Amino acid sequence: MDLKKPKTQNILNCSFNAVTEQNVLQWSEGILNSPDTHYIVTVNVAILMMIRSDERLKRFIESSTVTVADGQPIIWLSRLLGNPLPERIPGIDLCQKITKIAADSGKTVYLLGATNAVLNKTERQLLADNPALIIAGKSDGYFDDHETENRVNRIRNSGADILFVAMGVPRQEYFIQENLDKLGVNLTIALGGSFDVISGITKRAPNWMQNYGLEWFFRLLQEPRRLGKRYAITNTQFLVLSIKAFFKK
Ligand code: UDP
Repeated sequence: MDLKKPKTQNILNCSFNAVTEQNVLQWSEGILNSPDTHYIVTVNVAILMMIRSDERLKRFIESSTVTVADGQPIIWLSRLLGNPLPERIPGIDLCQKITKIAADSGKTVYLLGATNAVLNKTERQLLADNPALIIAGKSDGYFDDHETENRVNRIRNSGADILFVAMGVPRQEYFIQENLDKLGVNLTIALGGSFDVISGITKRAPNWMQNYGLEWFFRLLQEPRRLGKRYAITNTQFLVLSIKAFFKK
């Protein structure tokens, strides 16, 4: 994958790379053997709506090396608008596959985010899936601003090659944005609630629901109080903007 290639597919004012998951994984392998630091962004419908009013989050996404769509509705819209994206690329899949690449190539990972209990289970699961994996360190995602420097130092001193950050949107993005140059890693990616899923605390939607763009509904059933209002707003906004964009085209 050519990193110099600009992001081309514009969907509701967000530029995506028209790449497959395989492209991203190949590129990640290359990055892990380079001295550079890059980050991947996986944009779902909620994030796509949030960047319309969050300038800081928008800048973070615009500055990423790779931006992919983590949601079937974005793929459908890309097709309707004549800028098709090849496929949905969920952050959790990238996490699990990049972890396998790390295990196979002796690269190390650092886990940042969620509670210590979730983190311990996530670590156990990743090691069960990849016995050769080296986890350079881990820290929970519940800390005050004045502890940020300590977290950053722990990550850098661990010597990790890859950093997975799962502290929810937009906290995880702000963390990477503010500290990217100090982390000492080659590759980082923000993963939302992925540690909850990997650890088995929450369940992932079955494939058919993911393919029908219903992953949000499955999450809503599990956490109706926390996610109800969020999805009511972002899904409606997405639908209205999609219809407008379609007719404008
Ligand atoms: N989290 C965290 N620090 C915080 C708030 C949340 O580490 O200050 C964790 C939380 O434990 C969960 C994940 O971040 O594991 C966020 O999950 P959520 O489902 O909110 O992700 P999103 O919907 O934003 O992708």
